[in-house]
Amino acid sequence: MISVDEALEHVGRCACQLPEARVLIGDSLGLRLAEPIISEIDSPSFDKSMLDGYAVAANDRSPTRKVVEQVLAGEVPHHAVEPGTTINVMTGAPIPDGADAVVKHEDVTFDEDSTIRLPDSGVAAGVGVLLRGAAFHAGQKLLAAGHRLSPVDIALLAEVGKAEVSVSPRPRVAVLATGNELVQSGQSVGAGQICNSNGPMLKALVESTHSVAIDLGIGRDSPEELERLMQQGLEADILVVTGGVSVGVMDLVPKVFEQLGVEQVFHKICMRPGKPLWFGKYEQEGHRTLVFGLPGNPISTLVSFEIFVKPALRALSEGEFLRPRPLQGVLSGPVSHRGKRPTYSPCQIDFGTRSEGKPTVEPLSWSGSADLAAFTRANALAILPAGDYQLNSGQEIDFLSIG
Ligand code: AMP
Ligand code: MG
Repeated sequence: MISVDEALEHVGRCACQLPEARVLIGDSLGLRLAEPIISEIDSPSFDKSMLDGYAVAANDRSPTRKVVEQVLAGEVPHHAVEPGTTINVMTGAPIPDGADAVVKHEDVTFDEDSTIRLPDSGVAAGVGVLLRGAAFHAGQKLLAAGHRLSPVDIALLAEVGKAEVSVSPRPRVAVLATGNELVQSGQSVGAGQICNSNGPMLKALVESTHSVAIDLGIGRDSPEELERLMQQGLEADILVVTGGVSVGVMDLVPKVFEQLGVEQVFHKICMRPGKPLWFGKYEQEGHRTLVFGLPGNPISTLVSFEIFVKPALRALSEGEFLRPRPLQGVLSGPVSHRGKRPTYSPCQIDFGTRSEGKPTVEPLSWSGSADLAAFTRANALAILPAGDYQLNSGQEIDFLSIG
């Protein structure tokens, strides 16, 4: 049995960044750019009207101006604005030559013969005009490589004419729940059967990291069925299997991994929950699949995913393997520990109430590694080191934020 730190060391060594890929900008939300974005255009790319009104030369002192043309957004003016004339422009229309201001439609008065009068106060140069390049210029770097794309970034990519971008792709994660006792929720549950809660949880955990989940459903505890499903899963970047990794007679998963040619890196970690965790790698035509066999109890699955699979996913998409970083808090109630394995136990961190600058940690009671209900309130895992002891309210404790 190896320690959590040693296990993380192994996972980190095996998790390499995926090669960059070109994607449509519409599919790029949440992904990291693999290239800097340099604009090839000025924005705006022409002097444009910011309002519906009349393009004039500010220094033209004529008492009235004849309207010589109307220009809609998307059109170009065919005339220049000469002294004593104006052009009626709509919002977004190019500013005609000779004009340097736009007077609001509401601020002019109309004479006969398409002639307008400006307000007595006149008009200042630049009013109502958005100058070419006011936002940015051709050659300007708009987004750096590594930047995570937001909806506004996607709009900016579209504005500068990009249809595709190079990104770090979303890792594809195949999820397989194993166990003869499992039925899909919504279907009738017979004696001795339970609903598959790990499958939906893992799919959601994967998707919460901007990765793609491939749901392989439920596999019976039969070597043939597991082999067939896992074979499919090995096409993905990560295969996560739950259940069947312990030492029971039906714990076939490690054996099937081996038959499929998955190289074991480690099996069993000194932690609670999550001890039977199995980890290996599979190489096929230059592509590597990381393979996790997580213990079937839902909380074991959750804790193992948070501590081992999440950092691996991050390394695949961003290149850097970051170990989960414990933070320090102060207990708001007592918590006791027994046993030789460190325990990751549910707690609720209140980042708003602090003592000596550290957030408050409320330990949550739980009835063991099947107790999903206890975890609905948890936003962190308190880390209880090995040993028999009690910690009291006011004492410091390490925790890992989850979710
Ligand atoms: P195993 O790791 O297969 O020995 O399973 C350990 C415990 O977790 C057993 O009580 C299983 O019934 C339960 N379990 C296994 N897989 C799932 C799952 N997908 N959803 C909910 N519970 C599960
Ligand atoms: Mg099982």
